[in-house]
Amino acid sequence: TASNGDEVDRAKQATVESSRFRNKKPTIFSKIIDGTLPADILYEDSKCLAFRDVNPQAPVHFLVIPRFLLPRISQATSEHVQLLGHLLLVARNVAEQQGLTDGYRVVINDGVHGSQSVYHLHVHVLGGRQMSWPPG
Ligand code: 5GP
Repeated sequence: TASNGDEVDRAKQATVESSRFRNKKPTIFSKIIDGTLPADILYEDSKCLAFRDVNPQAPVHFLVIPRFLLPRISQATSEHVQLLGHLLLVARNVAEQQGLTDGYRVVINDGVHGSQSVYHLHVHVLGGRQMSWPPG
């Protein structure tokens, strides 16, 4: 609806402003959030968006990211509890929408040992094939 679009527009602007205010370093994902870099967006709302990974590691591989720039899960605090819950529920809803009825893998990489490459928190969802354990 138009009002939902307005809400998303306001959220985009607020995210850009709060990230500047907090002096955090924008990443490539800030450009996806503000619409200056194209992405295959599967879902968006005022708090987050979900889009396909540009280098998929499974038949279905998408990322769920907050509009708010929290660089990594290890920097989360109790002030982020609702946002983190929301990201997981969106991951679950988009996984269902993508037809992942036989299950899927949810991953958050943190820092050097976690092989995090983009320092804007993102939840990976991978599915459409059998996953193995442990991961590499
Ligand atoms: P990380 O290693 O930080 O957990 O994962 C970052 C992910 O972002 C990688 O899977 C990578 O393929 C994906 N990625 C990096 N740059 C872009 C981009 O510009 N567009 C999209 N859609 N995905 C990206």
